[in-house]
Amino acid sequence: MAELGNAVQNVDEVETLEAILDAEESGENRETAKNLIQSRIESVSGGEREEAEAAVPPEEKHPDLDHPTADKRHVRALEDGTYGDMWVYCETQAGALIDVSREMLGKARELIDGYNDDYDADERVVAVLVGDDVEKHAEECIACGADVVVYHEDDRLDRFQHKAYTEIFCDMARWGGDPGEGNPGEADWRDYDEPRYVVFPATNNGRDLSAQVQAELDSGLASDCSGLFIEDAVISNPVKTGQPGTNKTFERVLHMKRPDFSGFEYSTILCLDNPNREFHPQGASVIPGSFELPDPDPDLEGEVVEHDVALDDGWFRVEVTEFDQLEAGVDLTGHDVIVAMGRGIGADPTRGMELAVDLADCFEDAEIGVTRGIVTGSYNFEGHVEQYTQEERQIGETGQVVEPDLYVAAGISGAVQHKVGMDESDTIVAINTDPEARIRDFSDYFIEGDLFEVLPRLIDAIETGELDLGAVTDGGRDASETTASDEGDTHE
Ligand code: FAD
Repeated sequence: MAELGNAVQNVDEVETLEAILDAEESGENRETAKNLIQSRIESVSGGEREEAEAAVPPEEKHPDLDHPTADKRHVRALEDGTYGDMWVYCETQAGALIDVSREMLGKARELIDGYNDDYDADERVVAVLVGDDVEKHAEECIACGADVVVYHEDDRLDRFQHKAYTEIFCDMARWGGDPGEGNPGEADWRDYDEPRYVVFPATNNGRDLSAQVQAELDSGLASDCSGLFIEDAVISNPVKTGQPGTNKTFERVLHMKRPDFSGFEYSTILCLDNPNREFHPQGASVIPGSFELPDPDPDLEGEVVEHDVALDDGWFRVEVTEFDQLEAGVDLTGHDVIVAMGRGIGADPTRGMELAVDLADCFEDAEIGVTRGIVTGSYNFEGHVEQYTQEERQIGETGQVVEPDLYVAAGISGAVQHKVGMDESDTIVAINTDPEARIRDFSDYFIEGDLFEVLPRLIDAIETGELDLGAVTDGGRDASETTASDEGDTHE
């Protein structure tokens, strides 16, 4: 069918297309094939579809289907809805606002200021606080860039509860309005049906909440984003334009950038309306550390709004009877040297980690770190090195962020999620068999070679004070196993 669709796109004569249509009708007579040909005929003849296809809700279209969204409270997306503002879910932990909440507020301020200029609008940044005794954070949210703070507090909300937090957030977003009918709900501080944009932190709780909220609001979610901007987008996909062969400009689109393909490429995700169905809020979860912490300005002013909804006992089916704070684990920050190991140890994992220990022992203040590839890999380590391969030593986006004087990365490819945890190190030395490994782009020294050969020689060199590796410049890879980095540093 896809081939047929592509083929008819190259046919411009109506007679030829009609002949193909006749052939289809007198042959297999497939509905989808006929639609494809018919659309092309309409497109080349400049004609319009006789009648726009009437929108039928999934429940009516597929009455026998046990539709997965059938039991959702807010199953109907809006049509011709009104949308406004950028909402920021401000997570707190142990009674304090966490940094990513501040980072998102700073970014939202920047985005909405640009948006108001570009679209001659007057939209706002709305901070959302849910928990026990959270109103006290309102002032800080305003100082970080919020125009409005909406909060809901209740002592039953002292710890994150999936169901209760979701229900409260969705009720705030709808402000009590019945979805699709008679929106918006009564509110004196806003005059729209639903938020235009929402951002959540990509923390454990934020990931959990964002997915459920966006599903309940019948919209989509771009998870784990590290870049956001607002721009118009020209789209040709017929699902979105409603008319094959045409372009449509979508205005005010939140572009949500996230690392994909194991961190080697960025995708930009757009959440666009369909002709008969709107997808709002456009939502993202944001990786902590992606945006600058704003400088709080205590002179900024904003409105604080209390949200009220009766909390159903059924939302609190999970009872937290006791909790414990985990030991801090291994702190990899603040050391002079980090020896980090990646999946390049695969040929002999135990030996690979032993070499890391030996190299770290050569320095006064060194620690051992690993990539996520090691943490989630199914390597069989012998007992004495296993302790160095646990999650508490993971470096990167979902691990620790380190900035040592020297970072030795052995058998690590350089995925962006690892890079964000180490690229502020003073000197990065990478050892990798693959001369094209991404880590080369951000290493000061790149040693092309097998870590099982290179590490013993480095250890030996540090112990004896002598290094017999040849120094070459970029491009001399054939001549030696040591290659200077792109920056052109040489290595003796
Ligand atoms: P690989 O990518 O498999 O690279 C192994 C490298 O070793 C290759 O370049 C290969 O050429 C080289 N090699 C092979 N044999 C040898 C040898 N004998 N000697 C020398 N070199 C050799 N990753 C993190 O590290 N930290 C994070 O915090 C993190 N968070 C993530 C969060 C999310 C949401 C996602 C989706 C992924 C995350 N990842 C994280 C995973 C990340 O995308 C990569 O998959 C991971 O970093 C790859 O680990 P690696 O470099 O050890 O393995």
